[in-house]
Amino acid sequence: MIRVGIGYDSHRFVPGRRLVLAGQHIVHDFGLAGHSDADAVAHAIIDALLGATGAGDIGQLFPDTDPRWRDADSLMLLHTVVQLLRDRGADPVHIDVTVIVEQPRIGPYREAMSTALARVLGVTDSSVSIKGKSNEGMGWIGRGEGLAVIAVATVEVR
Ligand code: MG
Repeated sequence: MIRVGIGYDSHRFVPGRRLVLAGQHIVHDFGLAGHSDADAVAHAIIDALLGATGAGDIGQLFPDTDPRWRDADSLMLLHTVVQLLRDRGADPVHIDVTVIVEQPRIGPYREAMSTALARVLGVTDSSVSIKGKSNEGMGWIGRGEGLAVIAVATVEVR
């Protein structure tokens, strides 16, 4: 049986933090505020996978009040969620991600992001799609206050 889940995340840009998306360090003047490494791509994928399997959400699994997840590597959190899915008899099949951000452009990092995510998800590189979109200068994303990520996960339940 095939099931599909959707995940969304957003984080605010702040000075003095590294920008990390899909585990990749992205060169930019600002990083993202957050309790963990604030990797919004990993977080949106986690919620999409959990949604596809009805297994709750990222805030239940990794509360931002828990000191264990301070500055946590979100690819490790994603790895934990993939294991949780497998234990429930579900395997990731395909991930489609849209990163909505004005700057920086994520195009130069797409391949590295897909490869890193595919490794953690146990799928081929071609089963992870990463797309970047600007918000055409509109609203909080257009003003460069932060970024948003939408992820759709397709999962096969054994
Ligand atoms: Mg987040």
